[in-house]
Amino acid sequence: MLFESVLGFSWVVYLWESYLSKRQHSIYVNVQSVPKELTSVIDQSTFDKSRRYALDKSTYGFWNGLYSQIESTAILWLGGLPFLWAASGVVLGKLGYTSEHEILHSLVFTLLGSVFGLVTELPWSLYFTFVVEERHGFNKMTLGFFLKDLVKKTLVSQAISLPLTALIIYVVKVGGDYFFVYAWLLVLCISMVLLHIYPEFIAPLFDKYSPLPDGELKTKINELAQSLDFPLQKLYVVEGSKRSAHSNAYMYGFHKNKRIVLFDTLLEDYTPVGRTDQTNSDSTEVPESDREETNSGKGEDVNKKDKDCETKKIGCNTEEVVAVLGHELGHWKFSHMLKNIVIMQGSILFSFFVFGQLMNNTQIFAAFGFMDQQPILIRLYIVFSFIFSPINEIESFLMHILSRRFEFQADEFAVNLGKREKLKSALLKLFKDNLAFPVADWMYSARHYSHPPLLERLRAMDLYKPKQE
Ligand SMILES: [Zn+2]
Repeated sequence: MLFESVLGFSWVVYLWESYLSKRQHSIYVNVQSVPKELTSVIDQSTFDKSRRYALDKSTYGFWNGLYSQIESTAILWLGGLPFLWAASGVVLGKLGYTSEHEILHSLVFTLLGSVFGLVTELPWSLYFTFVVEERHGFNKMTLGFFLKDLVKKTLVSQAISLPLTALIIYVVKVGGDYFFVYAWLLVLCISMVLLHIYPEFIAPLFDKYSPLPDGELKTKINELAQSLDFPLQKLYVVEGSKRSAHSNAYMYGFHKNKRIVLFDTLLEDYTPVGRTDQTNSDSTEVPESDREETNSGKGEDVNKKDKDCETKKIGCNTEEVVAVLGHELGHWKFSHMLKNIVIMQGSILFSFFVFGQLMNNTQIFAAFGFMDQQPILIRLYIVFSFIFSPINEIESFLMHILSRRFEFQADEFAVNLGKREKLKSALLKLFKDNLAFPVADWMYSARHYSHPPLLERLRAMDLYKPKQE
């Protein structure tokens, strides 16, 4: 009964999501001309482009979603989990261990599971990157770069998730009645460590981060940061254009050590430090990250550069980039990131607590085909991904509402800094560069958008009464 309910619920969610996507798809099909409010800023050909891109992504999403749903149903229905567990026992035996080693057994299970996921997902991500994104001019990766990137991603994520899995199983085993507190503390510590080391050591494995060259933009950003007492330590440009032409900016860091990262695609004209004559004058500022990227094929870079020129996007001018950062600093001023972390950690603690209540209910796991052996990893997996799925759905819905509120707050903050017009024009340019479709079905956007639709943001910005301007 439980098993059928879980499967049934996953289909209810799937059908609901498909219904929402269908509503949004009809909008792409039916809204064929630029909405009135945007006629002065978007021309029909940009709008058509963005519409075709949206339609392509939506069709891709439909097939990908259908496939995933059938795949996961088949795995559950045919007993894929117990099969994989038994198979990892056999592999473990071949390595000379008995399957008594629960932690080792679980690690082999995790590894085999990820390999399976990787292989079944590969055709989809290849198709998305090299057909869908390519067709609309967003893909900047060569096949070689894509595969190298995938291997790196896999190695890094396994290097993090395997020890974490082992530690959690251990804590659940030995933690006693309050294991859920210890398990949560463990997750908390590891996520704090990751938040600290990710930008410094992990992100540079994937992308090139260079200090923003001296100039008007750097001066203006520093002035803005100073005027708000934002402890800006480092200002980087990341070569986002190496993988995709979508543009963005973000910031990170703790306490008095904040960094801002701008995607090179966000900037109207940007020449990396290393490719101009200022190499020497800036070499003292080159972050550690740069030392690691050197062996990754310079020949590739040259081709990329040519390609960049052909598809160079508009990008934002200095004032607009500063306005975008005004928005980002709004997130900082209102502690949005901290609030998100607190909510997330609270939810993890709650989940571990509920898991503690359920973990000794053998019937649950028997329903999933684990009759005599009920390993902790399997119990965690079943509870967290299947039993919690109704809660996860609601949580993600609420988090999107919250996130859209945060975006409005950050916009208002930027308006209060006197950046209303610049932020508006920056958002419009980003919208054009990213070919985001400006019209959204209200139900679909309520479920999926972490950022409010462009039109709503522009309208809201007009209503804010700035303290200065
Ligand atoms: Zn934002």
